[in-house]
Amino acid sequence: MSKDKIWLSSPHMGGTERDFVKEAFDTNWVAPLGPNVNGFEKDLENYQGQNVHVAALSSGTAAIHLALIQAGVGPGDEVLCQSFTFCGTTNPILYLGATPIMVDSEPDTWNICPQSLKEAYQDRVRQGKTPKALLTVHLYGMPYKVDEVHAFAKANQLAIIEDSAEALGSTYKGRKCGTFGDYGILSFNGNKIITTSGGGAMVVPTKEQKDKTVFLATQARDNAPHYQHSEVGYNYRMSNISAGIGRGQMQVLDKHIALRRGMNAFYVHLFESIEGITVHIEPGPDYYSNHWLSAILVDPVKTGGITREDIRLALEDENIESRPLWKPMHLQPLYSDYPYYGSGVCEGLFEQGLCLPSGSNLTQADQKRIKNCIERLLR
Ligand SMILES: *Cc1c(COP(=O)(O)O)cnc(C)c1O
Repeated sequence: MSKDKIWLSSPHMGGTERDFVKEAFDTNWVAPLGPNVNGFEKDLENYQGQNVHVAALSSGTAAIHLALIQAGVGPGDEVLCQSFTFCGTTNPILYLGATPIMVDSEPDTWNICPQSLKEAYQDRVRQGKTPKALLTVHLYGMPYKVDEVHAFAKANQLAIIEDSAEALGSTYKGRKCGTFGDYGILSFNGNKIITTSGGGAMVVPTKEQKDKTVFLATQARDNAPHYQHSEVGYNYRMSNISAGIGRGQMQVLDKHIALRRGMNAFYVHLFESIEGITVHIEPGPDYYSNHWLSAILVDPVKTGGITREDIRLALEDENIESRPLWKPMHLQPLYSDYPYYGSGVCEGLFEQGLCLPSGSNLTQADQKRIKNCIERLLR
């Protein structure tokens, strides 16, 4: 049996990426602007629909930073955010000297709980600290309860920053994730559903917001022949080389989503007769997940004592990568001093959850190795 490493989620090139990169070299567009940047933005705009405008940036984290700035968040402001996420979601709140107010998840989508959100908001207002913005996440590609969450945010004038870094291609009620918020965030890091090796994007409803984003991402240079600056800018634009990879990846995005969804179906089948292990699936017909990562919950009371850590170690022995779910931010040392509102849902998910190999490039032989390993442990 082959013992090559099976990764959780690794880059999967479609084939034409090199052509776009070669063209960038051939035409000497080796810079953070050029035809691939414009072309990649166009591709993303067409893909997302809703007449959105897209600014290609150096990372998803940079996109969140620029979204918070444009939402008017500054030192001392409070920002409501989903605690159950990757630190790239929340760290930009700290860059700005603002305060993250962390909120629990609900068990259907594992994303922000509308009830806890309401409690958090009302408690902050009681303390005289009305939050300025809301940072939501479609974690693992699963859309959150958009209607409920956005109705609440709009009723309370909260700017919505929609972290869709893991959810390119996912939809809620037929509409693409990343087009619901005042600012939508995408990531093309190496482990995401498509990659530019590293990169991100901001999705916004108007051309003015896109122009403002590009302005801030290119050192906020005023219109003058010399370099003139009236506000703080950043060096956050995407490279024309990276964007070339992105253009190639866009050609295989839907195919790769189908393959990731196939991996999810594989796990549903693998675990369907196993007591105590449940696969994270869409809670209803309104939700369509790209299943960026497939994840399971392992209840040791029902599995006869087998924990998610037992499964992780058994896979590791076979050179198969798996990983616990994101550790909630309010449990991180860095965030332990900030407020948290919840009832233990995301803590439970972290305790029992495991992400399994989910890449679009996994072979039948890889699936067989995973299946054999799991069955050996559980049967
Ligand atoms: C990857 C990711 C980010 C950050 O994107 P980068 O491109 O890696 O900076 C933000 N939020 C979530 C949920 C992510 O998974």
